[in-house]
Amino acid sequence: MSNSYIRHEITRLTTELALLTKWSPQDLADIIQDVGFSCTLCGRCCTTEFNGHVFLLDDDAARIKKIKPEVLVPAPEFELVDGEGNFYVSGYALRVREDGTCVFLENNRCTIYENRFAICRIYPYMLHREPDRKKNPVFRQISGLNEHGDYHYPISEDEAYALAEETIQYENAWLMQMIDFYTTAEERFLKNNTSHIRKNYDRRIQEFKKGASVQVYVWFKGDFVPVIVRREEYQGFGWP
Ligand code: SF4
Repeated sequence: MSNSYIRHEITRLTTELALLTKWSPQDLADIIQDVGFSCTLCGRCCTTEFNGHVFLLDDDAARIKKIKPEVLVPAPEFELVDGEGNFYVSGYALRVREDGTCVFLENNRCTIYENRFAICRIYPYMLHREPDRKKNPVFRQISGLNEHGDYHYPISEDEAYALAEETIQYENAWLMQMIDFYTTAEERFLKNNTSHIRKNYDRRIQEFKKGASVQVYVWFKGDFVPVIVRREEYQGFGWP
């Protein structure tokens, strides 16, 4: 059966990975110094109002699985559905409260700051390709520019370079996780003679919205982990 959507995603992500390798840490460090972002402890970045969800790389998910597995949820939004109505997703996210705040946020402070996750450490720096005004994909380097924090704060060359290196490492690991997810899903769908069809996905999401519990296969450490979820668990995300 055709799985052209999955193939398309693998090609898109592989292209992005190749382009990411062209970024030198020094180029990103120069941008980081130029922007001079400084956190004002507003806490907004730890809410779904500002950021959809906190996606965890495998290593971070493995760490939290050992000590507090109840804070993990299959990341919204699920990427794929098979012919039997099972969803597939590329990893875990942190749960949020009903008001959309991260479960680790208290009084606008991170209660696990010293041990926060890779995405939390590099934020608001990023290297993602997103469409510009003319719909051409371009790399964005700062999330929520001018919507939070202060700017033109002095950042040392060493600090900027370390942040740039960590950001590139994060983006590389994220792209690898995504490519592995889609590649294994493609093999599995082919083997099971099934395919991802958009109208099946939309229908299943509608059933999920109406209260049906659904099976989600979460990509984790090279395998798909089956998890049953209900809509209530996603209330604070404002999804589906
Ligand atoms: S883990 Fe900490 S830094 Fe990360 S989103 Fe939650 S409160 Fe914010």
